[in-house]
Amino acid sequence: MALKIFGAVPKWSKGAVCKTAIRRFESGPLLGLLAPIKIGSLCLLASSPVAAFEPLLASSAIAQGETLRILVDKVPEKAKVIAELDGKKIPFYPLSPGTQRALVGIGPNRAPQPTPLTIRWKRPFRPDRKKTLPLQVLAVSWPQSSIFMPPRKMGLLDDARRKQGRQRLAEVLKTETPQQNWTGKFLRPARGKIRSSFGKQRTLQTTGQERDWGQHRGVDIAAPKNTLVRASNRGQVIAAEPFVLEGRLIALNHGQGILSLYMHLAEFLVKPGEVVEKGAPIGRIGSEGFSTGSHLHWAIYVHGVPVNPLSWEKSEF
Ligand SMILES: [Zn+2]
Repeated sequence: MALKIFGAVPKWSKGAVCKTAIRRFESGPLLGLLAPIKIGSLCLLASSPVAAFEPLLASSAIAQGETLRILVDKVPEKAKVIAELDGKKIPFYPLSPGTQRALVGIGPNRAPQPTPLTIRWKRPFRPDRKKTLPLQVLAVSWPQSSIFMPPRKMGLLDDARRKQGRQRLAEVLKTETPQQNWTGKFLRPARGKIRSSFGKQRTLQTTGQERDWGQHRGVDIAAPKNTLVRASNRGQVIAAEPFVLEGRLIALNHGQGILSLYMHLAEFLVKPGEVVEKGAPIGRIGSEGFSTGSHLHWAIYVHGVPVNPLSWEKSEF
C-alpha cells in the first residue's frame, strides 16, 4: 500500500517549487520508496528501501489556508482508511480501483507548527495499522485591514437571531456525503474585482471604537447589485436561506465533505434540494447582511474548515 501526500503550492512561495509534495511508502519488507517533498520552496527527491509503512522523510509541509490531498493506493479490498488530525477523523473515499483519497483543510488560523497526522488502515479480522506523520504547517503573513461599517448596519450585531444562525451554519458545514459531485477545478462564481482576500486579519471600526473581527474565511468579489452568481462546481443546494450577518446565503454540497458558500445575495435563483451544474446561475449579488457594499462572499469548506477558494480555482484536488 502506498501513500502520497499532496500540498497545494502556496501563492507566496518563491523560486522553484515542486508542484506537488508526494510522500510514498510501500508495504513489504524491502520495497523502494520515492519521495519528493515540498518544504516552502524546497523540493527533495530521495529513494531508499524501507520497512512497511515507514516514511523516508521526517516532514512534509503545507501552508495555512491550503488543502492537503492524501492518496493511498494498492488498498486491499474491504480495507478502510482514515486520516486523523486533532482527534478529528477524516475519511478517505475511493478515487479509482484500489486508490482512495482524503482531503484535509488547513485553517488560516491553524498554529504554524509541526502537527501529527495519523493514517489508519482498518482491515476485517486483522489488527489496524497506523502511521503518524509530522505535518509542518507553514505560517502565511496574512494582510490586515479595517472595516468601516455604516452605523445603520451595526444593529445587526445585537440581533437575537444571530445565535440561531450560527447554529444553523454549523449544522450546514457538517454535511458529509460520500458521492463526489464536483469535477475538475472550481470556477470563480462572479465577474468582479477581488476586494478582500482570504485570510485577511480584520478589525471593525465603529464610531471611534475598534474591535477584532477575525480572519476572513472567504474571498470578496465586488460587483454591481444583481450581477449573476454561478455555481463554482456541480453540487446540490443544501441551503438557500437568509442569515442575519451573512445575508441571503446559498450552500452547495459537492460531496465528500467539500462545500461552497455564497453570501450577501440579493436574490436566490435555486431552491434547496436542486442539483446544479458547474457554471449554472444560482443567485444575484447584493449587499444583504453585515456588508459595506455590493459584493459576493465566496467560501470553500473542507470538512468544515475554511480554505482559500482561489487554490481550488487553480488546482484540481
Ligand atoms: Zn467576505
